[in-house]
Amino acid sequence: MDGGKKMAEILYGNNVAAAMEEALTREARELVRCGVTPTLAIVRIGERGDDVAYERGAMKRCGKIGIDVRRFVLPQDVTETELLYVVEEVNRDKGIHACLMFRPLPGGIDERRVCNSLAPEKDVDGVTESSMAGVFTGSGSGYPPCTAQACIELLNHYGTEFAGKQVVVVGRSLVIGKPVAMMSLGKNATVTMCHSKTEDLAEQCRAADILIVAMGRAGLVGARFINPNGIVIDVGINVDDAGNLCGDVGKEYAERAKAYSPVPGGVGAVTTSVLAAHVIDAARKAND
Ligand code: NAP
Repeated sequence: MDGGKKMAEILYGNNVAAAMEEALTREARELVRCGVTPTLAIVRIGERGDDVAYERGAMKRCGKIGIDVRRFVLPQDVTETELLYVVEEVNRDKGIHACLMFRPLPGGIDERRVCNSLAPEKDVDGVTESSMAGVFTGSGSGYPPCTAQACIELLNHYGTEFAGKQVVVVGRSLVIGKPVAMMSLGKNATVTMCHSKTEDLAEQCRAADILIVAMGRAGLVGARFINPNGIVIDVGINVDDAGNLCGDVGKEYAERAKAYSPVPGGVGAVTTSVLAAHVIDAARKAND
């Protein structure tokens, strides 16, 4: 308690990652015992800082769990034909069970074509239309994008009820906003999706039992957006004027909610664990 005012619960991602890691390490060992080393291919083009940082985090997490990683690092001026050839190589290699491909791809490359050329069973980050169809139909086939699932894992870990609750998602990208909205709907929430053309965004957000913000706009979510009885999941990763990582929600405002996920240390900390879970599942299915 703080001078009689209730402190917000902080939904740390590391707790979720640690819980997942234990089970995943056991499953990876079991696969290795059966002669299968779960293996992830990472396809990265160029040296974008956030891609390199995410790759480092993913490799560390995979290494701890017992997943092999094979990197395909291509120059920024790679052609579509060359990239398609690499994806084909990944598809053909029976020793590779899963593939993470960083996006956006450089201009001039048909991103849809390249993404859809990946074998659906190796698409562990929901980049193919086939995986996305699984998310939207609720069929359970394929894998949703890791970040969208990380939001759900984080909320599940902390015992959040979805059924009948008002979930408001800000952002409608295929990487986060749309899939996380569909996954919330699949858990029987009532879902509102907001975007840059939404009128009175603050009012929409304030009505949320669970507010999931994925805009990429540093600190845009302020006091008027926060329901004091709600939960705030901040997916945004931005760099503030002082060069520090920050989310889309001003920290001093997130603290006015019942619970919130911090940036850094919230959703981002769970994403690589979800990736590892998808790789292990893909390796198991390939050897069933
Ligand atoms: P994106 O493709 O740029 O989409 C941003 C969305 O936010 C769009 O739908 C856009 O609306 C909406 N938006 C932008 N400004 C807005 C405003 N002023 N009011 C209302 N809506 C607004 O971004 P993304 O790939 O989804 O990523 C979103 C954020 O998540 C970024 O900060 C990214 O770095 C972060 N991220 C985090 C993780 C993680 O592991 N934590 C992983 C991936 C990405 P329109 O559709 O109308 O343009």
